[in-house]
Amino acid sequence: MRHTVMRGLVPAMLALVLVAPTLQARQADPRLEALKEEALQKVQDNSKMVQEIVDMLFSFGELGFQEFETQKYLTGLLADHGFAIEKGVAGIPSAWTARWSNGTGKPVIALGSDVDDIPQANQKPGVGYHDPIVPGAPGHGEGHNSGQAVNIVAALAVKDIMERENISGTLLIWPGIAEEQVGTKAFYVRDGVFDGVDVNLFTHVGDNFGMSWGTGGGNALWSVQFKFVGESAHAAGAPWRGRSALDAAMLMATGWEYHREHLQPAARSHYVIVDGGDQPNVVPQTATIWFYLRERDYEKTKAMYDAAVKMAQGAALMTNTEIDTIQTVGTAWGRHFSKPVAEIEYANIERVGLPKWSDADITLAKGIQRELGQEEVGLATKLDSLGGPVDLSRSLGGGSDDIGDVSWNMPTVTLRFPSNMPGLPGHNWANGIAMATPIAHKGAVAGAKVQALTLLDLLLRPKIIADAWDYFNNVQTKEQKYIPFITAADKPATFLNADIMEKYRPLMRPYYYDPSKYDTYLDQLGITYPTVHPKAISDRQDGQQQDRQGGAAGEGGL
Ligand SMILES: [Zn+2]
Repeated sequence: MRHTVMRGLVPAMLALVLVAPTLQARQADPRLEALKEEALQKVQDNSKMVQEIVDMLFSFGELGFQEFETQKYLTGLLADHGFAIEKGVAGIPSAWTARWSNGTGKPVIALGSDVDDIPQANQKPGVGYHDPIVPGAPGHGEGHNSGQAVNIVAALAVKDIMERENISGTLLIWPGIAEEQVGTKAFYVRDGVFDGVDVNLFTHVGDNFGMSWGTGGGNALWSVQFKFVGESAHAAGAPWRGRSALDAAMLMATGWEYHREHLQPAARSHYVIVDGGDQPNVVPQTATIWFYLRERDYEKTKAMYDAAVKMAQGAALMTNTEIDTIQTVGTAWGRHFSKPVAEIEYANIERVGLPKWSDADITLAKGIQRELGQEEVGLATKLDSLGGPVDLSRSLGGGSDDIGDVSWNMPTVTLRFPSNMPGLPGHNWANGIAMATPIAHKGAVAGAKVQALTLLDLLLRPKIIADAWDYFNNVQTKEQKYIPFITAADKPATFLNADIMEKYRPLMRPYYYDPSKYDTYLDQLGITYPTVHPKAISDRQDGQQQDRQGGAAGEGGL
């Protein structure tokens, strides 16, 4: 078109076109270094907000799909800071997004972290032995009360800078709802919650900083409930007239135990019977068994699912009952994280470094490690190195996280930040002990610093995002394409945990954190930090009254 007219200018223009992006790519925005220093200071200055968010979510202690106090509090806070809130995304009432845009709105960086907790994991913070606030109640025995503080405080620091410096971009903050049921992230992906997102920065609590890229070592997961229906009858008067749905559930479980011998070493599977009938003198007319089926990839996990369906059919045949429903409750792909983003984020981890732990922090950590018969290693003092891809053919499997589904749809990383203690069993009251103490607060402040630095890198160095998509399209998904476990017809299992929260919420509400009256949640509960047993359980005699370091203040009034 114009090249005939402007023939003489073409070589010069071509040179400009070719050189300019390369130069821009190589040279970071000249403001970047100063803005990073400013962001570090802003996060530090806002560490009170980190502590309040961490403590508040800890006190709510909400199970998956029931995170309504958490939703109200966090969306209120983000709305106050100018974020546009959308509640009930992907048909999940306790889910939400918070979006803020500047300039052109590009790039779009999403910041996510889980918010749900664990059944029966209720625990007083800062107390190094089992001592619940509300016995039997759920609690943050996974530490999911800390990640939103990391993301929100980082986002607020960077938002200020973006406004003043006219930096374009969108910050999209989102919660992992019902992560313990791997219940929502595949639905977020399916229903377009992340449409237009350039990079997804996920955070998860750990006992050190952590960052990795490539194939993760965990498993994919298919969570599925099998409901059987039979016929009730008087279990003593006319048992021959009954057809027991519980028999079907138990035979299915027994069949699965025989099948287990023939699974590969990386496979993990476990089940609970969530409905085993009403009472013994009534032949159970309904029964439901809930399986978690885990393998390394989509195909192997689907093979486990297909085997379980056959076993359910066999169990129904044997008992003359019917399969009423086979409901997918949650799913997760194995994780694969972005190499270019992980490398940038790891450099920021090295820059921020681990928090400075106090003697009290270390005393608490050693106290619970001793209590659980673990090595008394205290807290992390040396950074883990950047992790690389795991060879799945040698993997022995492990846990799952539905961030895997997100990671197969856009460049994604998980920042693990040091808000918890080493040597704990996971999904347990012990994992809640540190989660509303200075250990959690300092770890989350450090995490927020790393997250803020990474946001600035992504906003001011466009080449990172280009590299991330190049890796995503041309390495990660070159051969392996994402096939969701869920179908278009599947619905999120939002009924889960409603009954448990209905029972315990009234008992937990009196202990919700009130920052207008108390500096910290430890202050509100009257807990002396730390409160630990001086000796291991094995060294004590049963029933012996124990002296407790820091006194017994943690026992009082709860
Ligand atoms: Zn988790």
